[in-house]
Amino acid sequence: MKKFILFTLLLMITSIYLGYTMKYYVVKSGDTLSEISQKLGVSPNSILDLNVMIKADKIYSGQKILYSKPNGVFETVNKGEALWYIAAEYFATTNDILKFNKIKDLNFLFPGEKLFIPFSIMCKTSNKKSGIIWPVFGEITSPYGWRINPLFHKKEFHSGVDIGAPEGTPVFSAISGVVTYAGWFGGYGRMIQIFNGHMLTRYGHLSKIDCYVGEHIKQGEIIGRIGSTGWSTGPHLHFEIRINGNAYNPLGYLPYAHWSGEGKRLPTPYQEGMGY
Ligand SMILES: [Zn+2]
Repeated sequence: MKKFILFTLLLMITSIYLGYTMKYYVVKSGDTLSEISQKLGVSPNSILDLNVMIKADKIYSGQKILYSKPNGVFETVNKGEALWYIAAEYFATTNDILKFNKIKDLNFLFPGEKLFIPFSIMCKTSNKKSGIIWPVFGEITSPYGWRINPLFHKKEFHSGVDIGAPEGTPVFSAISGVVTYAGWFGGYGRMIQIFNGHMLTRYGHLSKIDCYVGEHIKQGEIIGRIGSTGWSTGPHLHFEIRINGNAYNPLGYLPYAHWSGEGKRLPTPYQEGMGY
């Protein structure tokens, strides 16, 4: 209990200094995640991302839920990771990240440091010209179409594109729609399905799911984190587009991607000034 009070106090002190506040909510019996998020005026996706142990469908009374105002998530700086890369992962600008974390000198960024990334700055640099946006910042590691399965070494039809990115990279909804599936789905591992009444999008192999079935999602909202669950040889997103049950090549719908130095395709952010 003492630890809890001390931690709460620490959160309050950092809140005064920083541009956000962190608080705890203790779950009451009969609470559901959507009710809690409505009551607190907080996005369920932010709650699910901030609380590793919270499962949308397994909430019980007495559980302590950490939430932030405004809605946001934390990003831990890895060793040797540059701020421009973190900004690119969130399709945000470095300036916005610096502002929210009151960082004046980039040399004071150290490994293990936690940066607060508010929802309001995410996907601001996404290219929205084609209607759908890139769900993750990474390189296409396996295209749509016939291929030799990397795990089973048999010819198969790859119904989506694989986008390689480090474990924990944020995944955003490519479209606005309703979550029709969120959970384990065979070879897809942890998978999310979002449907807008016409187009169905699938996000596979996730390490974490930040949304729940029935939730209305806006384009560019964080829905999960990159992982390597299911039939997978390394951390990546399997991104799939289906219309009337048929799979289509996502590259025919996604905004322009440029060729990276290694000959792989990388999303091109719409706005200038991201430093790459
Ligand atoms: Zn795939």
